Order: sequence, then C-alpha cells, then structure tokens
Amino acid sequence: MSAAYQACLNPQCAATFDTRQVLTSCPECGRLLDVRYDWNRIAVPDELRWFETRWSGRRNPLDFSGVWRFRELLNFAADDEIVTIGEGQTILQQNDRLAAQMNMRAGRLHLQYEGLNPSGSFKDNGMTAASTHARLVGAKMTACASTGNTSASLAIYAGVSGLFQCVVFVGSGRIAYGKLSQALDYGARTLQIRGDFDDALARVREICSRYPIYLCNSVNPFRLEGQKTIMLRVLEGLGWEVPDWIVVPGGNLGNCSAFGKAFMELKELGLIDRVPRLAVINASGARTLDVLVNEYGVTWNGGEPDQAAIARYFREMDERSERARTLASAIEINRPVNLEKALRAIDVCDGVVRSVTDQAIVDARAMIAAAGFGCEPASGATIAGVRLLREEGVIDADDRVVCVLTGHQLKDPDLTVAYHTGDAELRNRKLIPSGVTQTPLANTPIVVDNDVSAILEALELPADVMAR
Ligand SMILES: *Cc1c(COP(=O)(O)O)cnc(C)c1O
Ligand SMILES: [Zn+2]
Repeated sequence: MSAAYQACLNPQCAATFDTRQVLTSCPECGRLLDVRYDWNRIAVPDELRWFETRWSGRRNPLDFSGVWRFRELLNFAADDEIVTIGEGQTILQQNDRLAAQMNMRAGRLHLQYEGLNPSGSFKDNGMTAASTHARLVGAKMTACASTGNTSASLAIYAGVSGLFQCVVFVGSGRIAYGKLSQALDYGARTLQIRGDFDDALARVREICSRYPIYLCNSVNPFRLEGQKTIMLRVLEGLGWEVPDWIVVPGGNLGNCSAFGKAFMELKELGLIDRVPRLAVINASGARTLDVLVNEYGVTWNGGEPDQAAIARYFREMDERSERARTLASAIEINRPVNLEKALRAIDVCDGVVRSVTDQAIVDARAMIAAAGFGCEPASGATIAGVRLLREEGVIDADDRVVCVLTGHQLKDPDLTVAYHTGDAELRNRKLIPSGVTQTPLANTPIVVDNDVSAILEALELPADVMAR
C-alpha cells in the first residue's frame, strides 16, 4: 500500500479511498477529493534546498522533470510508473521594467513563465501527474473538456507516451487556434460541442461516469498534485525564500487550489516558515469567484462554505441566462469546479480575489510582452491584477510579487495581431463587443509599396543614419 490516499474535502464526511480508485468526487457526499499523504512513511527531506541535489542527476528523466524532481512531495506513484516528457523547465524572471511600470521597487516583481512547457502552458505540470495516475490504474482511454490548453496538454501526453487513446471536448467557436491546432496535430479525437466550456465539461463528466474513460480535468485530484510544483520552482527561483504575493489568473480554479495546497503542506512539513498571500484574478466577464467571495461573503469556513449562497448565485446566473464571456478564453468559465478548494487556498494564503476588464487584460498582455515574455491573454490578467492591487494599496511597492504567466504568446496570435493592427482588425475579430476599444500599446505594421524610396520613407530613419 502506498503512503498516498484520496480523502474527501468535507470534514463531516472525511471518507478516504485508495489511490487505485478512479474518482472525481466523493462517492459518499459528492464533494471534491484531495490526494493526501502519510508523511511519516515518506522520506521527505529536512529542507527544500535538498532538492538541488537532483540537478546533478539530470540525465535521469525523473530528476530532469521540473515536476518529478520534487516527487517526495507528490508521492503517489512508483518511479517506474511515472509518465514524463520533460515538463517544468520553466523560468522565474525578475522584471524591473514591469516593476517600474507598476510603481514597485526594482527586484520586487517576478514572472514565472509556464509558457515554456512542452505544450506551451502550465497544464503540463498537471497532465504529467494525471497521466501517471491513468497509467497506474491501467486506463486505456482518457478525456477532457477544454478551453484549449488542457486538450493540447492531454493530447501531447497521450501521443508521446502511446499509453492511451484520448478524446477532447472543446466548446465550438471559442477556442484559440494555436490550441486547437495542437490537439489536432498530436492526434486527439477532437469533438467541438455546440456549447461553451461549462457545457463541454458537463457532457464529458457524464460520459466518463458511465464508461471506463479516465477524466483529466482539474476535478481529477492527481492532476492538481503536479501543479503544486509550480510553487516549488518559484521558491527555488527565489533561493527558497517565500515571496509576499503569488498572482494567478482564475478560471476553473485548479491552479490557485494547487498552489494553496502546496503551501499548506510545506508549512505542515516545516519546510517553510510562512505562506505567501495569494491574489486570484478573474476576467470581469467570468467573475464567479470574485462575486462569491467579495459580494456574497463566501469563505472556506473550516470546510463548510455556505452552499446555499453558492447555489443561489448559480441559480441567479441561470435565470439571467448568463454565460461566461471574455477574450481571455482560458478563463472563460462561470462554474469553476474547484471553487471549494480555491476558497481553502484563499483561507490558507490570506488571499484576495479581483476581476479585471478585457481592456485591462489585453493592455497588460501587451505590456508583459514588451517587457519580458510573450504570454496569452489569460496570463495578462496577472499584471492587470497587480496594477489594480497597487492602486488599492493592497500590494506594496516593496512587496515581493510573483506573477504566474500561465500560457505562451503563440497560443492566441489572432488576438495579438488584432491588437497591434488597430481599428479595422479590432472590429473584424470581434474585440469591440468584448469591450476592447483602445490599443494604447499597439505596434502597427506599416504597409508599403515594393519600392526602395517608399520603404526608406516608411522607415523614418534618423538623420545621422541617413547621412552615411
Ligand atoms: C487553464 C488556464 C488558466 C486557468 O487555470 P485554472 O486552473 O483553470 O484556474 C489560466 N491561464 C491559462 C493559459 C490556462 O491554460
Ligand atoms: Zn465525502
């Protein structure tokens, strides 16, 4: 028997299950499950610095992986069961230019760039863990619903490992082309459901509950175990010092939940002496967490969040036929499945939740690209959130802040080009209905005749260059 087990999040229920069982909710009470560990039976190192010893073993794929070199902290599989494709080779970059733009001191703002993962988003951190569990239980077929990146990630793991078939469900019309092209290229059977992400997830859950198909959405507790390691790499990048803030976009809320769990466990193990604060940033067209926390006053409440208030909000949303709507398609989700775990993370990390407009998101995205890393719109929510929290005085100029850039710039090049090309393109690409009417950071391409003098004129070269 391994030292890991699954446990119900509900303290009244507290049911536990073997890791060999395939579950996405508690069979007793229906709430979410956690993977937990009997830490006494695991050789957890005394200090985080120990994990640096793994660097010298980088020819071993498990030590090379930015997820599995921390495997003592997600110890649910034997070494020879692990499915890895070299995920997690990501960068923590200190960005003083953005810090200055946010009125912060130099050296205080950092970007954790998860776009460097094999499929171009942080999802690979989770999918390596879910794929490992799928292998461990002998799954032959896997599935997910996706706004794009989950499908790209699952498809690459299924394709490279050759261990299982994979089907992905995407909403129709809303998926960024970079992401759709990946699912197709990696060979996933791709279903475009006539509906949005919330619909696609409901359907895939129905189907996976009836047939032996292994579900890889973030209701899968094993997936979130892999995503904990993003925070371990952040700590590693900071020389094992705990930052003041982690800022992350919130969609289905798996990532912020995993971060909270990581810090909860590290604290429990005595591997850190304090936890950072967490800022979860919603898009204003998909702000369920923001509303529930800041308007309905819903909290973790020792594992008993106010279910009546949550149900009331969802009912009201249905009555208004309200659907999630944002250009940041990765966070275009109105019924976040990890809501309760996110509430726990907010509790553990003294977190805050905010929402930012699409205009703020696309401007922040352009600002990040000009200063450091190209990222997709959802990731832009982080800097838009920092700006807001700086204005509110919640984040201090001297605080050490880490923004998690969740996905790569090339996931959604249409939006980037539309932003830089300006008016006509904005209209063509339907950015305006989404509230984006300005492009203050546009770097517009110049159309010019195929002629040297016309080109020289367009170049607007400075006089000293022209004088040569
Ligand atoms: C999935 C995703 C998110 C949202 O993460 P959740 O865990 O669903 O909250 C944000 N950004 C990108 C790029 C994503 O792919
Ligand atoms: Zn239960």
